[in-house]
Amino acid sequence: MGENENATKTDFIRSKITDDLKLGKYSGRVHTRFPPEPNGYLHIGHAKSICLNFGIAAEFTGLCNLRFDDTNPEKEDVEYVDSIKEDVKWLGFDWQERMFYASDYFDQLYEWAVQLINTEKAYICELKSEEFKGYRGTLTEPGKNSPHRNRSATENLELFSGMKAGKFEENRYVLRAKIDMSHPNLHMRDPVIYRIINASHHRTSSKWHIYPMYDYAHPLSDSIENITHSLCTLEFEIHRPLYDWFIHALELESRPQQTEFARLNLTYTIMSKRKLLELVTEKLVHGWDDPRMPTICGLRRRGYSPNSIRNFCDKIGITKFNSSTDIALLEHCVRDDLNTTSKRVMVVLHPLRVVIENYPENQVEELDAINNPEDESMGSRKVPFSKEIYIEQNDFLEDAPKKFFRLTPGKEVRLRYAYYITCTQVVKDEETGEIIELRCTYDPETRGGSSPDKRKVKGTLHWVSARQAVDAEVRVYDRLFTVEEPDAVKDDDGYEKFLNPASLEILTNCKAEPSLADASVGSRFQFERQGYFNVDPDSASSEQLVFNRTIALRDSWAKKNK
Ligand code: ATP
Ligand code: MG
Repeated sequence: MGENENATKTDFIRSKITDDLKLGKYSGRVHTRFPPEPNGYLHIGHAKSICLNFGIAAEFTGLCNLRFDDTNPEKEDVEYVDSIKEDVKWLGFDWQERMFYASDYFDQLYEWAVQLINTEKAYICELKSEEFKGYRGTLTEPGKNSPHRNRSATENLELFSGMKAGKFEENRYVLRAKIDMSHPNLHMRDPVIYRIINASHHRTSSKWHIYPMYDYAHPLSDSIENITHSLCTLEFEIHRPLYDWFIHALELESRPQQTEFARLNLTYTIMSKRKLLELVTEKLVHGWDDPRMPTICGLRRRGYSPNSIRNFCDKIGITKFNSSTDIALLEHCVRDDLNTTSKRVMVVLHPLRVVIENYPENQVEELDAINNPEDESMGSRKVPFSKEIYIEQNDFLEDAPKKFFRLTPGKEVRLRYAYYITCTQVVKDEETGEIIELRCTYDPETRGGSSPDKRKVKGTLHWVSARQAVDAEVRVYDRLFTVEEPDAVKDDDGYEKFLNPASLEILTNCKAEPSLADASVGSRFQFERQGYFNVDPDSASSEQLVFNRTIALRDSWAKKNK
């Protein structure tokens, strides 16, 4: 196993691993893990951790495990386990046969707790939770020893096995590590390592009545799996002495080292699992995979590609200080990827009927359209053209200012891949005055979109032939929040207030070119002049095609914020 020779990425974690390898630490092994708690769906912040852990394993010819940190039966569920597996795979990573659960280690973790009791490094405490605080001390004052701290090992063992057997109600006893109640780091003041929970676990069902705390289970699970580099977010830095303490106290040979990095925060985005759950349970969004959610399944449904998310994670890199990343960077990565990979098609979102008066009745021409000007290998397709077409309502103005280069009476425009047309008449609803149809003429000499006399035409419009058009619903999304840091809003202020009322607009009367008729769920397109869109799973059960707008062609917020 070699040095990081092909690596293009550098950051303090990769440098450290390179140094460890030079020093021959862990006999040249690199083994990481991604340890989600199955209590919610993964979000874009988790993607950062997934790309880091699996990415490092790949770059250093190492391994990365997927481990479910399932130590809290009350909040965990197989629904989450399944979604996490699906999301990690979709992002493009493979744990091979190394999928584990902290609950796989419950027997071993229990034995080690017994060992801590036997070596007088742990004791059963029965202080009430209200009393706990008084004994704990503060940042400036030392804590006090629990009156139960010197219980004999025999008595501790008996109580502990009683806890395990379910003899006691919750909160009656806890097992605490015996460290130092005056330690400057509060996490080292005899932390709780086991508590009684009389709840059924999604894997071990009712076998256990006690469950280990994260700070205890995590380092020991890492050690059991022979992890070398345990990478986690900065808030765990202060827990690191405790991480090391357990490994030393149990004299374990496999000694992983914890290194912390800054978590991802994104503007206009909530990343707290608890708040995301709230959005779902309070029906402020339509579920975990609502395309407005920053969850991996939401982004997937929205049309983001795994590649764009991985590129984003590469771009933001890894640092040691918390900051906020502009969501425009993520959006840029999405556009960048979709631009080269998605097929161009024509879809009219707000249709206006146009009748071409001098075009032969019943004639249909099949015109050549290029699938992606950025990539010739994507080829071309045929689009039908006929006497009646649809254009966008806002591509026509009756009294247009000089700089309006789209359709206006008397001025010529180009229909993409088709002909030049000139508007000759505007048909209005007699009662409302609303424009319901345009009458135009076309120049048969301009087939394909250019004229033999090279006359100048500034505007080019997309269009769809009326008779062959496929009906579609298009869901247009915008940011879910109107404020830059919705996570920073205090609970009492109710961050719901900052939900963007225009985050979802449903257009039910869209007209798509017929090549889209059998587009499969999930496939991604660029709708010419509009943005990137994909086919929503609802298409399978709906009368008409359903599209999601993944993202507009340009960043409209950049202008607004100027
Ligand atoms: P919880 O409060 O439920 O613990 P969590 O967001 O920490 O929420 P976990 O399932 O414990 O969720 O996270 C799994 C891994 O993903 C952890 O290693 C965690 O550090 C990492 N992670 C979570 N959120 C982010 C984020 N925003 N940026 C980078 N890594 C993250
Ligand atoms: Mg966590």
